[in-house]
Amino acid sequence: MISLGIESTAHTFGVGVVDDRGKIIFEERDMYVPPIGAGFVPNDLANHHEKIAAAILKKIDMEKIDVISFSRGPGIPNALMIGSTVARYLAAKYKKPLVGVNHAVAHIEIGKLKTGCEDPVVVYLSGGNTQILAHAEGSYRVLGESEDIPVGNALDVFARECGLKTPGGPEVEKLATGSYVQLPYVVKGMDLSFTGILTDAVKKRGEGAAMEDLCYSLQETCFAMLTEVAERALAHTGKKELLLVGGVAANNRLQEMMGMMCGDRGVKFCVVPEKYAGDNGANIAWTGILCKNSRDKSTGIIQNWRADEVDAFWV
Ligand code: AMP
Ligand code: MG
Repeated sequence: MISLGIESTAHTFGVGVVDDRGKIIFEERDMYVPPIGAGFVPNDLANHHEKIAAAILKKIDMEKIDVISFSRGPGIPNALMIGSTVARYLAAKYKKPLVGVNHAVAHIEIGKLKTGCEDPVVVYLSGGNTQILAHAEGSYRVLGESEDIPVGNALDVFARECGLKTPGGPEVEKLATGSYVQLPYVVKGMDLSFTGILTDAVKKRGEGAAMEDLCYSLQETCFAMLTEVAERALAHTGKKELLLVGGVAANNRLQEMMGMMCGDRGVKFCVVPEKYAGDNGANIAWTGILCKNSRDKSTGIIQNWRADEVDAFWV
């Protein structure tokens, strides 16, 4: 079986083609980059996706496709609507089944496919999400999460406020060569908060703190918080694998911290390959194959669709 996957939850319009053994046959994406100093405006995302969709999709031989998968959410509605409409059109025109995929679950499943881990505690960190999850009793349970903005968003907004390029995470990583200045460390039980850290870092920049020190301290503080919660999740669940997924997983310092913690606990540490860390269509195509026989056949977009609402029957 061959699945076509369409990703359009936020900044990226992506298309992937994957077979039922997990072989990625095609993967292409285009990311919308806002002008320096600007954030993501929902309509600008939709306009971008609308313009790029046909150019990528016309490279696909539709006769070879058995199922059409697309991101139903969570995401920005204007952006989701483009992928959903395109997928719906292709399914109708070529008479193929349409499968709605949860974007968070797709980040997890591509991580499992690419690293070979089977039953991990998952640390899912991206521009739009920050969650620590593990599979239990039929679905991916959210054990801990951000109470406000995602960690990737904190890095992106800090970078934007300081005049760096978007996405900000890699820019912050490059500049993280200074020494530590105190920022608020906010862990509440299994949950985390990043807005106070962001506000304080931007304020300290206004007061003249060096970018190198602030970038370093942002990384140290946010990643230490996440490592603390991930460790507690491992302790609670007794799982023997940790899987890092989402765009922020590409960060070397984060990998180093999580890797050290796992080493100390005798836990296998896995990181999704950088190529599949950010949003793309292959994640969606693969997960479409896994959840094709789901009892839930509905395909409307869901802005706030949580991973724990998905019946992960295939796991
Ligand atoms: P996603 O939403 O999964 O596509 O991931 C995008 C997010 O990952 C953005 O917030 C980026 O700033 C962040 N990101 C990408 N590369 C890095 C990196 N090397 N370090 C930190 N964050 C990163
Ligand atoms: Mg994502």
